[in-house]
Amino acid sequence: MEHNYREGSFMKIAVVGIGVAGAYLMNRLSDARDVRVTGFERMPEADHDAVCAWATSKNVMTGLAKKCGLNFEDYILHYGKHMMIDIGDSKKNAIDVPLKGMVNYDKLGLIKDMIRGTKIEFGRTPRKESLEGEFDMIVDSTGFHRNYLPKLRNQMCIPCVQYKVKYKADQTPYDDFYLKAFPSMTGYFWYFPLGNGYAHIGAGDFERKQNNTFVEQFLRKYQCDIIKKTGRPVRISPPLYCEPFTDGGKSVGVGESIGTVYSLLGEGIIPATWCAELFIKHMHDLDAYRESVIKKFEIYVLVYKFIQLKITGKFNIMKHWSELLRIYKHMKNEEDRYGMVVRIVDMMKISKI
Ligand SMILES: Cc1cc2nc3c(=O)[nH]c(=O)nc-3n(C[C@H](O)[C@H](O)[C@H](O)COP(=O)(O)OP(=O)(O)OC[C@H]3O[C@@H](n4cnc5c(N)ncnc54)[C@H](O)[C@@H]3O)c2cc1C
Repeated sequence: MEHNYREGSFMKIAVVGIGVAGAYLMNRLSDARDVRVTGFERMPEADHDAVCAWATSKNVMTGLAKKCGLNFEDYILHYGKHMMIDIGDSKKNAIDVPLKGMVNYDKLGLIKDMIRGTKIEFGRTPRKESLEGEFDMIVDSTGFHRNYLPKLRNQMCIPCVQYKVKYKADQTPYDDFYLKAFPSMTGYFWYFPLGNGYAHIGAGDFERKQNNTFVEQFLRKYQCDIIKKTGRPVRISPPLYCEPFTDGGKSVGVGESIGTVYSLLGEGIIPATWCAELFIKHMHDLDAYRESVIKKFEIYVLVYKFIQLKITGKFNIMKHWSELLRIYKHMKNEEDRYGMVVRIVDMMKISKI
């Protein structure tokens, strides 16, 4: 589908959902000569939040923030050195992953600065029909919700619960990133430091068994002040299985609404922003947009199949060795992008969980 606009005319775009993808689009499109963009966010401005653990790789985010005229370093709350991944019940069963660029950052602060000066209506979930009357294109950047696109039948989502907490000085349970993997890789518990005694702790579990029990045990074990409790599912089906990306009319999906989450890590900040970048490049040719998204996130299909095999108990190291090796090679080649040192021995251990 191609959109052609005459010289001097402009395209009216509604960006619905001001998360990481929507905010990036608002920033980049607000300056475009041939576009008039209006954002809509269902949360009222005073309650605007970014429900997420806020971990990412600064090696990639630095460039993306720069495109918005912002300095990513200004938002970093914690520089990771090591990530401990607990794969059993004892320290012997822990993987110590050296980090090289993984940080926790003020995601909401960066979003707010990205959208500064742009036109956004907060506290609004506009009806599709009313937007269609006013806009040439409707971007669905509503993440998990995907309200403006056809419903998906066979998607996989992981329900998550998360607390923002504060520990007294010297009482933090860990001083760096910590993960506890659940059996059969149905999900994991996380503890991500936010600096000054603050942390995000939470869990996502496909089976819904571990979420509350594990998090509540942890909260009881390590006394803290609870600042906020949030939760939402994360979509882990890759873009290939989140088609269609459009409704055949004016709506088009960007970000997690079309499955841009790296399922092995439940990581969606960088992929959603990349997806927004692809949209900017191809917004006048949605077939090209579709192709570029499928290609960019091709490896996500393999990773997703691996997760499915693990969850269903069908993974067999002998039978699926070449798939595991391909995932390892991909991540090894992109250590900076993932912000961590990737080792085959760790991958092997993870595949046995
Ligand atoms: C608990 C949790 C922890 C996570 N931790 C990490 C992490 O540490 N690192 C990482 O990289 N990824 C993480 N992820 C994944 C990551 O947060 C998402 O994949 C990413 O934020 C997706 O960006 P997005 O802009 O596509 O959607 P979102 O960030 O989900 O933004 C969607 C926005 O749309 C708004 N909205 C929804 N429906 C409507 C509507 N009808 N009208 C108007 N507005 C609407 C929402 O309020 C929200 O502001 C986590 C996810 C969860 C659930």
